[in-house]
Amino acid sequence: MSDALDLTDGTRLVIVGAGLAALPEVRDADGRWRRALAGDGVAEALLDVLARGSGQLGNFTVTSWVTRKAFGERAIGVDQTNESVVVGELAVVKWATHLQEGPHPAPRRIAVLRDAGFTGMPTPWGLVTWRSPSGVQTMVASVDEYLPGAVDGWSWAVDLITAAVQTGTVTPFLDAAAAVGTVIAELHGALSGTATVASPSDARRWRGDALDALNVVCALDDVASVRCARARRDEIAAILDDVGAADGTPVLEGHGDLHVGQVLLSGGRFAVTDFDGNPVLTAQERMSPVPAALDVAGMAQSLAHAAIVAAKYAHLDPAMLADVDASGRAAFLGAYAQRLHALGHDELYRPELLRPFRLQQVLREIIYAVRHLPRWGYVADAALPAVLDEGVAR
Ligand code: ADP
Ligand code: MG
Repeated sequence: MSDALDLTDGTRLVIVGAGLAALPEVRDADGRWRRALAGDGVAEALLDVLARGSGQLGNFTVTSWVTRKAFGERAIGVDQTNESVVVGELAVVKWATHLQEGPHPAPRRIAVLRDAGFTGMPTPWGLVTWRSPSGVQTMVASVDEYLPGAVDGWSWAVDLITAAVQTGTVTPFLDAAAAVGTVIAELHGALSGTATVASPSDARRWRGDALDALNVVCALDDVASVRCARARRDEIAAILDDVGAADGTPVLEGHGDLHVGQVLLSGGRFAVTDFDGNPVLTAQERMSPVPAALDVAGMAQSLAHAAIVAAKYAHLDPAMLADVDASGRAAFLGAYAQRLHALGHDELYRPELLRPFRLQQVLREIIYAVRHLPRWGYVADAALPAVLDEGVAR
């Protein structure tokens, strides 16, 4: 243990391994501390601490927006990186059991969104950050409103696409895609106060990063997407090259890791979650402001990936699927642009960056699939030629 935040008597949050993990602990009757699980009352105890308001406790900073208590803990029971506990069916406490090295982008982004009155996310109740010995702040716990029955887009988008192709009734999917476009425009509108302008060196860095991803992909083991990237390398490089000329583009403290898996559907409402930034980037890179088009590209491309997933699990007519996929993306992009315009923030979005950023995302997915998740490879295999050929055939 390298640090600890005492919550109530007999519960605490400990930092282990000089900042590798933040773990909830409970003291047993014999006086010994052990790792707490849902039901041990440590998440309830954190809500107790939040109810006392914001404050500094040693190296821990508590930010509290809600003073409501809740009782009764259960594990959220989904496959996740960290560990979340639902308290009283009202709040979700997320322990950062896998600490990201700081600095951490979420606390500021969540605070700005909350202050701007953004409603397209689970209402934040509070969060706890910890200052490491090197003086860097990282997030160790966060608490959000619990959204009953929430499913992410790897469920709702895949299901809606499947139903659209199978039944020919496309409207529910198009409505969902448009609703998400509206929410993302509102997200960007709410973050517009953080906007600055990209410098020529920012644009050069984006171009360098994108071309690096291409080089890495071309050097990977021989799978279909890698062969496609090698065969079409010049064409890909020419598209990516465009971001090098994007200096002057507004950048903001955007989401940074937007995809359908980050958008929950609960009670007919879409909510954006997970402001931790892109896990494939370094801590410093995750803090950098991003063009709005990067978030839009992340979402648009992930809708295409959801269509590929849908095709794998159901026998879908390829022509119908291509139609549903294209019209869903158009509905998302159209609603995004329309809402951004209505909010008076047209200037934030540069649509010419959409294609290069979508392509960069596919390249990153290829790298991730080959290195860590081969069973995801079929998505990248199908996505790369599709994004390259888009607009050519139709
Ligand atoms: P991790 O980053 O550890 O994987 P996430 O924050 O992405 O965790 O959450 C994982 C899953 O937990 C989500 O896909 C969703 O199913 C569920 N979840 C997260 N936040 C909420 C919430 N506020 N209400 C209901 N379910 C949630
Ligand atoms: Mg997530």
